[in-house]
Amino acid sequence: MKCTVCKGPAVIDVRRHNANFCADHFLKLVRDQVGKAIKDFAMLTRDDRALVAVSGGKDSLAVWDILLELGYAADGLYLGLGIGDYSDASGEMARSFASSRGLRLIEVDLPTDHGFDIPTGAKAARRVPCSACGLSKRHLFDEAARTGGYDVVVTGHNLDDEAAVLFGNVLHWQTDYLGRQLPVLPARHGFPRKVKPLVRLGEREMAAYCVLRGIDYIVEECPMADGNKHLGYKEALNAIEATSPGTKHDFYFGFLARASDRFTPDAETEQSNLGACSRCGAPTTGEVCAFCRLAERATAIPVALGREGGAR
Ligand code: SF4
Ligand SMILES: [Zn+2]
Ligand SMILES: [Zn+2]
Repeated sequence: MKCTVCKGPAVIDVRRHNANFCADHFLKLVRDQVGKAIKDFAMLTRDDRALVAVSGGKDSLAVWDILLELGYAADGLYLGLGIGDYSDASGEMARSFASSRGLRLIEVDLPTDHGFDIPTGAKAARRVPCSACGLSKRHLFDEAARTGGYDVVVTGHNLDDEAAVLFGNVLHWQTDYLGRQLPVLPARHGFPRKVKPLVRLGEREMAAYCVLRGIDYIVEECPMADGNKHLGYKEALNAIEATSPGTKHDFYFGFLARASDRFTPDAETEQSNLGACSRCGAPTTGEVCAFCRLAERATAIPVALGREGGAR
């Protein structure tokens, strides 16, 4: 297998591009794809202060690394979710990446700072863990960006993630979600701008990028992801991609180019009713925001009870 660019020995094939790459040209491809996403969707400027949401997984560490390589100013934010050993190990990965490169990593710990963990919160609110977790993460990212004076929150969502979310939203015709499923959400109503610079890159490419760059990341899946529908959607799309390379890309970018703006009114209806949470001041459609309601329920029950059958 030879590199399509320089004819040297290739280390990876990217079937979507019908091409093979040596290590140097693969790293260049990844940076170029991120650069193109940033430019095409006007995600970042050189003056922006960016806060990267770092989970300790391959995507978030890679996007932090790539942004720094491309000359953007970016700090990291790690959220301790209290998911047993998984949180301990992922926090270690985030910390060692930051300290080995002399980077600033802000840490927020849900159990220490807010008095509950995700297994307890999910149980108390009778939500599936990923739902309690997702709403907590969104709230805490926004809050950290606001208090730290950051212009933009960067997440490591890649093409596989976005195509799977789109697939789920289409299967259930969640039109308000479809109206918000964009690689850039502009700052408004007190929410910082949110950007996803990895949308042009797949999961396998991000793993290869980390290996080639010597980035250690947590390989294990979160133990709470069992039964998560998102994983099923990914598998279904992987089966299609295996026989028709490029399908995920066409599905997601075709949606952005030809369909997403048709759903903007659905997303705006919800956004137009926003006020400030009476407890924390965050933007919300109700009197008290979803995070404060979750925290109230989660801290009202004894931790030992909530933990029963929770994180391993
Ligand atoms: S899999 Fe679910 S619970 Fe685990 S970190 Fe992701 S969103 Fe949170
Ligand atoms: Zn090459
Ligand atoms: Zn609140």
